[in-house]
Amino acid sequence: MFPLLKYTEEEVESIIAKTDSSAVLASLSKERRDWFDLLALISPAAYAHMDAMRDAARLARVRYYGKTVSVYAPLYIGNTCVNSCRYCDFRIQHTGTVRRNLSLDEIRREAEAVRATGIDSLLVVAGEDPRVNTVEHLADVGRLLKSMFSNLSLEVAPQTEEGYRELFKAGYEGLTCFQETYDPVRYRYFHPAGPKSNYEFRLWTQLRAGKAGFRQLGCAFLLGLSKWRPEAASLAAHAIYLMRECYEAKVQFAFPRFCTAAEGFQPEFPVDERDLELMMLAFRIVFPQCCMTVSTREPPEFRDRIVQTAADNMSAGSRVTPGGYAVHAEGDVAQFTLTDSRPPAAVYDAIRCNGQEVVFKNWDRRI
Ligand code: SF4
Repeated sequence: MFPLLKYTEEEVESIIAKTDSSAVLASLSKERRDWFDLLALISPAAYAHMDAMRDAARLARVRYYGKTVSVYAPLYIGNTCVNSCRYCDFRIQHTGTVRRNLSLDEIRREAEAVRATGIDSLLVVAGEDPRVNTVEHLADVGRLLKSMFSNLSLEVAPQTEEGYRELFKAGYEGLTCFQETYDPVRYRYFHPAGPKSNYEFRLWTQLRAGKAGFRQLGCAFLLGLSKWRPEAASLAAHAIYLMRECYEAKVQFAFPRFCTAAEGFQPEFPVDERDLELMMLAFRIVFPQCCMTVSTREPPEFRDRIVQTAADNMSAGSRVTPGGYAVHAEGDVAQFTLTDSRPPAAVYDAIRCNGQEVVFKNWDRRI
């Protein structure tokens, strides 16, 4: 569990199991909700009220985000990695992956290909390789890209607060770091070696970035590694903590479901689509102000539906291999399987068909 929580996993499960229909309705009828309401809204008793939850989430979403959906794309700049995450095909032991780190010129060509699709918000992604992806290199990448995109975010190895200050100066202002699991015992099992084996250093990543000035702090766990309800309770507690400590930043939720990669790791706790939707609706209702993204791991029908009730942000036309947009031919082992492989224009069409507006830019630090 999130270490500052006063409740054990068993206690959280017991609160959830005791939730009945009237408790769900009581949480739904409130104007302001708290962590206990989140537990009620993710409980099995909430299944019977999913239509009411869709209505409440839709209302909260429209209040804060209007009828808009922001779009972004990830840009993988390298996939060498010194970590040993048992579920990832970029781990150091995996030999089937073509390893590459893009040069600055290749990164520029990739970025131009993304920019040509209209995308103006970029997530720079890299494996953890301290020999290559140093703060200096990531800062060079940021300085190169900041003139091309109005918003730059990072999903790379956790850095020190000082490192984040340098990266903020270089142009990044958003950060995503999945905790993977808040259960320290499982965390140790899934991350047996490498810098990522340090649970605590990873856990306080968003706090360090927030203190360094980052404007958007992305949090998530990897759905499938552990029981999802206690993980969701931890995620909510983590978010409440960050909102207090980094009140100038915005918390962003993601709900990445485990997708089978090339070697076929099978998660012990798979999450089905109904539970995924329930969790996303609950987070939108309890945290109406927070950003929420829906991954390209999800099928198009689900993504098109959930951006009308819960998520406000989605990737479009993603490639999850370094060089996948322009520089290198297809065929590498990707970090995970993409379920929504529509080109960006088809994603924009689907958003507009649902009466929503595609937002390419909702922030521009260059102005
Ligand atoms: S999940 Fe990230 S840190 Fe772990 S092996 Fe894959 S790329 Fe490396």
